[in-house]
Amino acid sequence: MKYQSFLIKYAEIGIKGKNRHIFEEALVRQIKHALKPCEGNFAVHRTYGRVFVECLSDYDYSEVTEALSRVFGISGICPIVETPVVPIEELRKAAADFMKEEYPEREATFKVHARRLNKEYPLDSMKVNEELGEAVLDACPNLTVDVHKPEIMLHVEIREKIYIYSTIIPGPGGLPVGVGGKAMLLLSGGIDSPVAGYMIAKRGVKLDAVYFNAPPYTSERALQKVVDLASQVAAYTGPIWLHNINFTEIQLYIYEKCPHDELTIIMRRFMMRIAERLAKESECLALITGESIGQVASQTMTALGVTNEVCTLPVFRPLIGFDKEEIVKVSKKIGTFETSILPYEDCCTIFVAKHPVTKPRLDVIKRHEKNLDEKIDEMVERAIATDEIMIVGKDETRIVKQRDGELQI
Ligand code: ATP
Ligand code: MG
Repeated sequence: MKYQSFLIKYAEIGIKGKNRHIFEEALVRQIKHALKPCEGNFAVHRTYGRVFVECLSDYDYSEVTEALSRVFGISGICPIVETPVVPIEELRKAAADFMKEEYPEREATFKVHARRLNKEYPLDSMKVNEELGEAVLDACPNLTVDVHKPEIMLHVEIREKIYIYSTIIPGPGGLPVGVGGKAMLLLSGGIDSPVAGYMIAKRGVKLDAVYFNAPPYTSERALQKVVDLASQVAAYTGPIWLHNINFTEIQLYIYEKCPHDELTIIMRRFMMRIAERLAKESECLALITGESIGQVASQTMTALGVTNEVCTLPVFRPLIGFDKEEIVKVSKKIGTFETSILPYEDCCTIFVAKHPVTKPRLDVIKRHEKNLDEKIDEMVERAIATDEIMIVGKDETRIVKQRDGELQI
């Protein structure tokens, strides 16, 4: 079947009134971005409070529907056949042909739902329903009418053209990326943080990300794994600015100066401090982590409280009440799982203590952090100044700042 366009459905809760156009413009922008790599020409526009993707050339149906099904804000994608505003006899034929092609064999019940928005059309929607129901019954012996619980619907909208559709491909829901501002994701190579980023982005938040790298204790492959994860998340969010921070010096210094059972917690406090600095510099309004209560020693409520103490920005932890199984389920759905389980070492796993504290005391931790006073400030400044920045998209990654260079976009 050759569909000429796609009607994009979106949830309207919370977007009525004066914010609606902001939402719709962001949705159009994100759809255009998602379609860029697809074969073919498309026009994306808003008409009468609806968003349409018009196909101006040949295109690959599954490529386009897959791209659209990753755009947050879309709740459904309806492939449409269009006709000019034709008399009912011709519309009967168009509807019957459509259903014959759409459901050549499937035995099912159906119902027609016509909407006459163009009041010049001579028949009202009830009458159109009757006419088209009859035409489909005549043409498709495998279909029967059930107006109460139909298995399939035939939607017909009479506007400046007539739009016919039946299939609704589910979208990811949420809000279009960008309407909610920007946040900084602490992205490690694990299962959790990509899922956390996905969940916050789904609420309309654009993502930047930071990875704390510990070469030579961690390899190039560990970095590549994080870049790959960012790229998989970027398939939903659009390009992500990824900061690659060299954390080795800080980690070794903590290792040298602080009690080993407190390493993880102190290290995490420095990660948060640095992430917050980067966040503020790039106008991010919050931090995001993949933490979940009790998952590991550094994620008991006490430990989370001690980590959180260094932050002034809100820290979003969307997985806080999730079991690992639930997180894995989302990571499989969004396509990050297989990359996340690759066995490359993470900076935290290398410096981890045998028996990390599960109930760190803030006053004790602060006292031990004093052991770092001599050099830690300059180390933090150096780590931030020598960050490497990449723009990671779904299909390409571009380094825009080398460790010893200036930002070059
Ligand atoms: P993940 O599966 O995302 O790696 P995890 O279960 O390994 O999480 P931790 O290592 O305790 O848990 O890290 C908790 C959170 O801290 C991560 O979800 C991530 O947001 C952040 N984080 C940990 N290590 C790093 C790192 N090297 N770079 C950036 N963020 C990190
Ligand atoms: Mg981890």
